[in-house]
Amino acid sequence: LVSRKKKPENTIVTLKGENIGDGKPHFVFGPCAVESYEQVATVAKTMKEKGLKLLRGGAYKPRTSPYDFQGLGVEGLKILKRVADEFDMAVISEIVNPADIEMAVDYIDVIQIGARNMQNFELLKAAGAVNKPVLLKRGIAATIEEFINAAEYIMAQGNGQIILCERGIRTYERATRNTLDISAVPILKQETHLPVFVDVTHSTGRRDLLLPAAKAAIAIGADGVMAEVHPDPAVALSDAQQQMDLNQFDTFYNELLASHFVR
Ligand code: PEP
Ligand code: MN
Repeated sequence: LVSRKKKPENTIVTLKGENIGDGKPHFVFGPCAVESYEQVATVAKTMKEKGLKLLRGGAYKPRTSPYDFQGLGVEGLKILKRVADEFDMAVISEIVNPADIEMAVDYIDVIQIGARNMQNFELLKAAGAVNKPVLLKRGIAATIEEFINAAEYIMAQGNGQIILCERGIRTYERATRNTLDISAVPILKQETHLPVFVDVTHSTGRRDLLLPAAKAAIAIGADGVMAEVHPDPAVALSDAQQQMDLNQFDTFYNELLASHFVR
């Protein structure tokens, strides 16, 4: 169902008037984790000033260590909804439990399925059974074929509103947190009709690489870029190393817009 051979035209996912998959780049920004109303609203306000409408934030955080901050759960989803309503934005947030999907659709605009859950087939089926766009991240050690099959799981349940997101894969290289597989973007565009995003934060894990990675993503044909922004990354409860503060975000976004031909 996701194959370009079956459907030559691009799938378009429409969010707050932005047509993702229309050939122009779209942008998702926001904190790694929802920590408070003030934290999310501060980022949303800065985004709003730039005309950006797609806000991210994790309420359920799949952390490597069980002793790390696990997210605010449904309280986090409520904060996201409040901010989205106030700023007229669409929110994207990760859901980790299939049983939470139906509840979550009341609060969020896009269900994110995280890298660690790309082959959680019950979660994929649950996301496929609702009428809500899904942002599906590539698994940490997933091949492109496995990634496409995960999308197929969602679409097989009837939900075709899927955005694929390359977020880096695990290799022997340690200079970056993961290895951004940039060539996955044109391959996914050729093989499927789905929009393809690149998450520059979790792939590189390095603030100094966010801008060149984002430029590369757009140059190679990505439909969008995701990056994390936090009002004060030094005190962030997750991913303190790689989130941008508001000034860095301003520079990043301005330079990104200045660097290519769209907009
Ligand atoms: C995230 O986007 O919040 C996240 C945890 O990313 P990933 O699943 O790609 O690690
Ligand atoms: Mn993060």
